[in-house]
Amino acid sequence: MTALSFAIEEHPAPLAANARAEKLVSPGFGRVFTDHMVSIRYTEGEGWHDAKVTARVPLMLDPATAVLHYAQEIFEGLKAYRTPEGGAALFRPEMNARRFADSATRLAMAPLPEELFLESCRRLVSIDRDWIPESEGGSLYLRPFMIASEAFLGVKPSSEYLYLCIASSVGAYFKGGPTSVTLWISDEFTRSAPGGTGAAKCGGNYAASLQAQAEAIREGCDQVVFLDAVERRWIEELGGMNTFFVFDDGTLQTPPLGGTILPGVTRDSLLTLAADQGMTVREEPYAIDQWEADARSGRLREAFACGTAAVVTPIGRVRGRDRDFTIGNGGPGLLTEQLRTQLTDIQRCTAPDPHGWVE
Ligand code: PMP
Repeated sequence: MTALSFAIEEHPAPLAANARAEKLVSPGFGRVFTDHMVSIRYTEGEGWHDAKVTARVPLMLDPATAVLHYAQEIFEGLKAYRTPEGGAALFRPEMNARRFADSATRLAMAPLPEELFLESCRRLVSIDRDWIPESEGGSLYLRPFMIASEAFLGVKPSSEYLYLCIASSVGAYFKGGPTSVTLWISDEFTRSAPGGTGAAKCGGNYAASLQAQAEAIREGCDQVVFLDAVERRWIEELGGMNTFFVFDDGTLQTPPLGGTILPGVTRDSLLTLAADQGMTVREEPYAIDQWEADARSGRLREAFACGTAAVVTPIGRVRGRDRDFTIGNGGPGLLTEQLRTQLTDIQRCTAPDPHGWVE
């Protein structure tokens, strides 16, 4: 199906090794970019064409380009890790390929064939492998994305799309080990509604979350936890992470995928790892009142958020207009730490990979 071949146009003047090494000392997140990018074009009637690996250059867009007006855009986020042998390993990229195609369908865009998505990631990692930081916790964050590229102001699905994949060297998310975050419960803003785009990874979802996130920061919190849009009662997810709860009987619970939250790759991986070790795992709704009651009674032992960027982030405290409660002793919980280590060991190929997740 995807016999499209990639033209390779290597960067004529890639960054010198010593300048690159300097950038990789403390890259942070999302600011250090590699030398290359992948691009593939889609034209109605013609299909996918012009697959290329080229130098990473600015885009030139007509001011009438549809994405700039109606936000027909989707993206993904996945990481390549340096293996102990010096190679590079992608973690479950086929899950991102499938989610990207699902997001495209929801945004009425042409779905990129999954094999092309995978090949674009492999090509970019291969050509920019030296940009994976060697420091502990470092990785190469891949950002595949697709925009409606037709220059037309009518409101309709674009007849042209531009798919791109760029890469960013990122450092350890937590310097000196994970620290707990404080969440702000947004009672005014919601992230997505039934029938909306909550399960798609489209830029519009994130634009719409920023005011709530700004409110959280103003309130002295780190992240927003969004409630459902209908009853304003059920915990959904954070702006960029799924949520998990650990109870005193050892069970693990996470909100179910019902179309309003993003089906996280990390979420799915942790559910699998926990079930592997005999834990009871539940994908069931959890109400905010119950969360507070369980945290106060001690029935709830730990809570954490998870996603590709931060992997597993302990939740220490939850605040809202009329709430303020602490989870456990406010610090990272034991099971949270254990699941985090198990997952990162598989991602970095320092532990067996029983499910064949790394490639
Ligand atoms: N929810 C949202 C809204 C996100 O943006 C992300 C990050 N992609 C996640 C959850 C976690 O998903 P994943 O584990 O696939 O990174």
